[in-house]
Amino acid sequence: ADQNGETLVPTHCCFCGVQCGMYLRVDKGGKVFGVEPRNHDINRMRLCPKGINAYQQVNHPDRLTAPLMRRSRDEEFREASWDEALDFTVSEIRRIQAAHGNDAFGLLGGASLYSEKTYLVGKFGRVALKTRHVDYNGRLCMVSAAGANKLSFGIDRAANPFSDILLTDCLLIAGSNVGECFPVMTQYVWGARDRGASLIVVDPRETAIARTADIHVAIKPGTDSAFFNAVLHVIVAEGLTDESYLAAHTTGWEEVRETVQAYPPSRAAGICGVPEEQIVQVARTFGRAGKAMAFHARGVEHHSQGVENCLSIINLCVATGNLGKPGAGYGTITGQGNGQGGREHGQKSDLLPGGRSIMNEEHRRQICAIWGIEESELPPAGTSMMEMVWQMQRQEIRGLIGICNNPFVSLPNYATVKEGYDALEFHAQFDFFLSETAANGHVVFPVTVWAEDEGVMANTEARVVKHNKAQEPPPGVRTDTWVMCELARRLGVGDKFDFPGSREVFEELRVASAGTVNDYYGITYERLEETGGIMWPCPSTDHPGTPRLFEGGRTYHPDGKVHLQVVEWHAPMDPYTEEYPLSLTTGRTVAHFLSGNQTRRLGALVEQTPRPWVEVHPSHGFRNGDPVRVVTRRGSEVFPALVTEAIRPDTVFIPYHWPVPTAANALTIDALDPRSKIPEYKVCAARIEAAARI
Ligand code: SF4
Repeated sequence: ADQNGETLVPTHCCFCGVQCGMYLRVDKGGKVFGVEPRNHDINRMRLCPKGINAYQQVNHPDRLTAPLMRRSRDEEFREASWDEALDFTVSEIRRIQAAHGNDAFGLLGGASLYSEKTYLVGKFGRVALKTRHVDYNGRLCMVSAAGANKLSFGIDRAANPFSDILLTDCLLIAGSNVGECFPVMTQYVWGARDRGASLIVVDPRETAIARTADIHVAIKPGTDSAFFNAVLHVIVAEGLTDESYLAAHTTGWEEVRETVQAYPPSRAAGICGVPEEQIVQVARTFGRAGKAMAFHARGVEHHSQGVENCLSIINLCVATGNLGKPGAGYGTITGQGNGQGGREHGQKSDLLPGGRSIMNEEHRRQICAIWGIEESELPPAGTSMMEMVWQMQRQEIRGLIGICNNPFVSLPNYATVKEGYDALEFHAQFDFFLSETAANGHVVFPVTVWAEDEGVMANTEARVVKHNKAQEPPPGVRTDTWVMCELARRLGVGDKFDFPGSREVFEELRVASAGTVNDYYGITYERLEETGGIMWPCPSTDHPGTPRLFEGGRTYHPDGKVHLQVVEWHAPMDPYTEEYPLSLTTGRTVAHFLSGNQTRRLGALVEQTPRPWVEVHPSHGFRNGDPVRVVTRRGSEVFPALVTEAIRPDTVFIPYHWPVPTAANALTIDALDPRSKIPEYKVCAARIEAAARI
């Protein structure tokens, strides 16, 4: 403490996958009241507007400080005691499961939770609720990249640390508004540029990062894999592949090479709406670079062909031998704070801790031994988040607990989502603010914010970092861990949930991940505090971690090869017609985070960006601020126009952080990628028309 009794608690920002280090300022009364920069390896003192303002949520007047409860949606919420809210929840779980089976109750987690809590969500769902229906909101985020990573590499994380960006000769960024969504990551881009690296940006919008690129390719939404197949076509035609690398380290290259023959630039230019010469220019720039890296985010992944899109970029990197070397590699830029860690420990419907498959007998045996349950007691794989909503509509799922998510804003096709949640006989949410989704439930459990508990997150680089507790929670508030353990105790399985806090959960998580490619065994809280972060896999407590995943030819499929996958492009799921001739695409803006439940309450961020808008090209004849109705097959809403040449004439863009009546996701389509089950947020058919008023 300084002379004023104030202390600085080292921790990390909660708001995106960069995971910038920061200090929270704590007053002599033990309350968080500010933020200081921290010279952490990731961010070197820098923070973006979200990071600077994040502390304001900790003691925000909107915090929930007592459980809210009502027995029917016709009633108003009233404050309840913890005992009453917990007992009501347990009685509803028992009633619904006795009448309709265990799978009639579902659990949805989130990827902004600490990894300990994501581990506990998976265990709580399978062991306490005994249901197959466990999934999480990372299903709306990085699952296409995860699917592609597993197929190609047998491991699901970025190949390189951020610092490798500084060493590259060519950086390709596809479908990522880095400057607004991951602002502090741009320091690495500028560092590479200072060394003379080329920058290629592929994005339908001229984002801030695109404006600075050597080549900005403004492809039509939903055409990514056609574009990257064509780039690879040119790379093959011009002899820019690394044949010795391909022969030694890969399978499937012949089939991929054969497939891309059908994607000459002349064909792809028509599909993607870009000049043929630009495809050739990208191929030559990337293919001739000594060391090249490719990063992508939701712009590539949020598609009914999201896995294929990611695979087409992996094919490009591997075919040019850009893997396993300093300054050469590949990665997805994770969106949520724990977007990487949140998908590793078993809250996904098909996964168990350590990235194990719930369909694999050996993996099931291993986890049952750790959890102390019979193999017959472990439920099979469930369905994905959006599919669970459809099951709610059909009343196959009748009860639900949601933790750290806000589907009323974040899921596509709001009308369907509302209908699904309204059909639930019982719905509880854990949250620290009354989100739009929580406000529709029967019980709301008030839980801690990130600064009131300790735990780990894994950032975009798969660097596991430790968040520290900066203040005691307000009276009446509990940790998500405590609530899950208490519910488990009341459901009769308390002996399997004897976790006083995050540390004890982390110890079980370490053991549960040991021996997998996702190995955390060598990571301890003490080591994280000493080092500032360790990149997994880290199999022993004297192992330094693995910053560069494929260094020295290391691979993770049992045959020691990278498995290249054939990719064929197909048209997006929502067809264009005369009535719906435009593409609607959606995304984020710098001041807000995901569903906005947190950032729409923070003064400076609201002042910066108080409301959404629709970006339209000047050719449509609107002026800035004109009310524009955006119409899709799901509905219509009115937004003020932001007229800009930074968007294609055939495309409109809306940021999605707001609820109805200005919700981009009231308009988006709930079509899913068949493999990753990610929704097609980034393209649907639309039209725009002048509206009377907003
Ligand atoms: Fe937080 Fe991400 Fe901004 Fe860093 S870049 S301060 S982690 S929101």
